[in-house]
Amino acid sequence: MAKPADTRTAGRKPVAKATRSAAETEKIRGALAARRDELRAEYDQTLSEITELQRDRLTDSAGDDQADTGTKTFEREQEISLANSIRERITQVERALERLDEGGYGWCERCGNPIPVERLAAFPSATLCVTCKQLEERR
Ligand SMILES: [Zn+2]
Repeated sequence: MAKPADTRTAGRKPVAKATRSAAETEKIRGALAARRDELRAEYDQTLSEITELQRDRLTDSAGDDQADTGTKTFEREQEISLANSIRERITQVERALERLDEGGYGWCERCGNPIPVERLAAFPSATLCVTCKQLEERR
């Protein structure tokens, strides 16, 4: 992976030097898959809430005053943007699973150490270990 030209980035150790055991990889896969299922359930839930709000709006909006209609529109917009952000997170997790299969997932981009499984489960898009992340934030 590391080309000679990479030595320019002095101080940066090559990524993916360490190895992760198959058991650990499986643990990450399990955590990611569980996270994805959780997000999908959340997504479905949000979608049905949107449908419900939509139905409300169509059926009894005639009796609502303007304030009610405004609130419902706002609620629906909130739900839609929530659904969008959940879908984005699902995509992140799916991409993480693909990268995991290719062996390029779960390594700190900065120090090359494995990122702990718990951290990956909580933040599937994490590319730094906690230590490096803290260093990054301090700068
Ligand atoms: Zn690191």
